[in-house]
Amino acid sequence: PAPAIGIDVGGTKIASGVLIGGELRGRHVQPTPETGWPAVLDAIAAQVQGLQAQFPDAARVGVGVPGPLSLDRRRVKFAPNIYGFTDVPLVEGLEERLGLRVVLENDAKAAALAEAHLGAARGTGSSVYVTVSTGIGAGIVLGGRIWRGRHGIAGELGHVTVMPGGPVSGAGLDGALEAIASGTAIARDASYALNRDVSTAEAFTLAAGGHPAARRVVDQALRHIGVALSDLQKLLDPEVFVIGGGVASVGDAFFEGVQAAADEYAGPFAPVTIRRAQLGGDAGVIGAALAAGQEGA
Ligand code: BGC
Repeated sequence: PAPAIGIDVGGTKIASGVLIGGELRGRHVQPTPETGWPAVLDAIAAQVQGLQAQFPDAARVGVGVPGPLSLDRRRVKFAPNIYGFTDVPLVEGLEERLGLRVVLENDAKAAALAEAHLGAARGTGSSVYVTVSTGIGAGIVLGGRIWRGRHGIAGELGHVTVMPGGPVSGAGLDGALEAIASGTAIARDASYALNRDVSTAEAFTLAAGGHPAARRVVDQALRHIGVALSDLQKLLDPEVFVIGGGVASVGDAFFEGVQAAADEYAGPFAPVTIRRAQLGGDAGVIGAALAAGQEGA
């Protein structure tokens, strides 16, 4: 396939690169503008132009965004964790700025595609990829293809209600998984419990060192994620779950906590097979580039 440009728009940063023969080149990262969606589109367009100057063969562009899309995949309905990102005509806006065809994909679905084709779920017939980062999202892959559902929202795991009456998510729903177990939620709860600013990474370090309040916050988050996987096991029974995203990259402590809770709540429906994402921070960019290639093929 021809080289394709992948862009991964996150709550905090925009990452990009060019996928050439299964390898990612020309990686670039910048903070996500916080002044509304037109500025985000300008930043994406600038990254694409920068990459095109370096890789003139790359004519396909795929963009992954952290929110549900319209059914025709031309608009972002909303991105719960990016300021002012509601009903964004992303494909039209970028095609106007670039004069190129642009393919839009949800960030978790893009990463799921990447892990299924080139990463930890390669060779499986069914997998569920879960990203735990600023938000929580998932991509369900069946026979190499993303399952989208009737309205395109299949996989919106972060908004599954796990604690009615609990904290309210960016989608305005109380007790959603990502309001309790995302990186944002862990930092929020640890900061409250310790009475100072505590990052997600520091919360994990303190928990590992035995700090009681930090442990409670982290354990609770991991438990909820594990329970969610045990529920997905009962609903979908995929061959593997793959977990990635900034919070999962903490490593052993994350995976041990999630696996223990998943096994406990799967009960007689165990085992829940969980693998670590292999493509790390590149999964979203690679997946967006793959999505561009698939559409243009
Ligand atoms: C969004 C998902 C996204 C996930 C991870 C959630 O808040 O609704 O679409 O995949 O965050 O970024």
